[in-house]
Amino acid sequence: MPWINQSECTGCGICVKVCPVDSIALENAVADIDMDTCIHCGLCHDVCPVNAVRHDSERIPREVSANVARTREFMDDCRRLLGAGEDRKCLERMIRHFRKEKKVIEATLGELEALTDKGEMA
Ligand code: SF4
Ligand code: SF4
Repeated sequence: MPWINQSECTGCGICVKVCPVDSIALENAVADIDMDTCIHCGLCHDVCPVNAVRHDSERIPREVSANVARTREFMDDCRRLLGAGEDRKCLERMIRHFRKEKKVIEATLGELEALTDKGEMA
């Protein structure tokens, strides 16, 4: 999924014009993508003259940090609101949550790769 490094966006609007589903808008002269409607075609990445539209993989460290920070917040809340020892239970629940997410991703990848094998592409 593309994302826009807003500190590098010059607000030229080229990506806005090229997006086939009108998912990009300029807000305060900076581009922003509506990820609910983006079809991940990659055209915005290809046309940006300053390389402000970036690949999703660049966000992995940031997303990992956000997940860890969010888990720490939940642990603090559980300890504060529910008592001593609840932070540990919260951590175990979050580990189970992310293990479930991992299974969802792996199963999804398996099904998508099977589409390739079946030759279901136009
Ligand atoms: S093409 Fe690049 S610089 Fe221009 S508005 Fe889009 S993201 Fe910003
Ligand atoms: S990837 Fe395609 S659909 Fe998504 S914002 Fe960029 S141009 Fe629009």
